[in-house]
Amino acid sequence: MKITYSIIAPIYNEIESLPELYRRVKEVMDASGANWELILVDDGSTDGSTEKIRELAQADKTIRPVIFARNFGHQVAVTAGWDYARGDAVVIIDADLQDPPEVILDLIQKWKEGYEVVYAVRGEREGESWFKLWTASLFYRLIYRITDVKIPVDTGDFRLMDRKVVNVLKQMKERHRFPRGMSAWVGFKQVGVTYKRAARFAGTTKYPFKKMFRLALNAITGFSYFPLQVATYVGFISAGIAILAIPLVAILRMTGGGSFSGQATTLIAVLFLGGVQLISLGVLGEYIGRLYDEAKGRPLYIVREAPED
Ligand code: UDP
Ligand code: MG
Repeated sequence: MKITYSIIAPIYNEIESLPELYRRVKEVMDASGANWELILVDDGSTDGSTEKIRELAQADKTIRPVIFARNFGHQVAVTAGWDYARGDAVVIIDADLQDPPEVILDLIQKWKEGYEVVYAVRGEREGESWFKLWTASLFYRLIYRITDVKIPVDTGDFRLMDRKVVNVLKQMKERHRFPRGMSAWVGFKQVGVTYKRAARFAGTTKYPFKKMFRLALNAITGFSYFPLQVATYVGFISAGIAILAIPLVAILRMTGGGSFSGQATTLIAVLFLGGVQLISLGVLGEYIGRLYDEAKGRPLYIVREAPED
C-alpha cells in the first residue's frame, strides 16, 4: 500500500494526550482522502505511554510504533521518525496537541502547491509562562543573528517536508541535532504558514530550562562558529588597548604627569583576562566534546521495538 502522508509524533510521558492525539490526527487525515500513517516514537516513557502506544497500534494498523530503549531526547525521536516514515510527505507534530492537527491540512495545501518544506509559524501562543515566551523569543532571534543558516523565527519542529527533503536529512548523521535548523540548511522551496499554538492538552512541559539550554547550545554550535570567534575579537580588543596604554603610561611617567597606584587596575585586568580565557576554554571544550561524540560514532538511538517493514 502506498503511503502519502507520514505523521511523526515524539512521545515522552504523554499518556493523557495520546488517545486525543490519535483521535484528532485520524479525523484530520481521513479527511485528506489519501493513505497515511502515524508514527509514534516512544522516547523512553515511564508513565505507561509505551503500553498505550502498543494498544493503539494493535487496534489500528495505521499506527507504527517505534519504541526506544531509553530517553534519547525530542530531536533524536524526530530523527527516528524520519527513518521509519514511508510517506511522500512527512509531518512532524508535538504529541501534546500544542500543534493543532487541523493545521496539517493547511500544510498539505502548500505542499500541493509545490513547496517542499512547509513550516508552521507560531503566531499566538496560549497557556505558556512569560518566562518561556520571553526565552523562546530571545532564543529564536539570537539563533537567527549568529548562525549561518537563516532559520525562520518563531518556528518549532511542526512542519511538513517532502520525501526529497527527508532523504537528504536522513544522510545528516550529526549527533547533537537541531532539526529545524537542519531543514532550513538543506534549501529547497520553503514557505511558512502561521497558526495559533494552543495550550498543552494535558500534563506538563517535558522541556525544563536545562533541556532548552542544551537545545540552544546544539543550535548555536551546530550552525555557527561565532562563539569560537568571540575569543579572537576580545583578544584583538585587549591587545589594542594594551598597545595604546603602554606608550601613554610611559609618557606620563617621563613627564611626571601622574603617579599610578596600580593594584586595583592590575587586579581588574588580570581577572578580566583570566575570565575571558576561561570562557574561551569552555567554548573550545564545548566544540571538542561534540567532536569527540561524533568520533565515537555510536548509533543515534536504540530501538527496543520497531515496525519490520
Ligand atoms: N519529548 C520527547 N522527548 C523528550 C522531551 C520531549 O520526545 O525528552 C516530546 C514530548 O512528548 C512532546 C514534544 O517532544 O511531544 C515537545 O515537548 P514539550 O511539549 O514538553 O515541549 P514544549 O512544547 O513545552 O516546548
Ligand atoms: Mg509542548
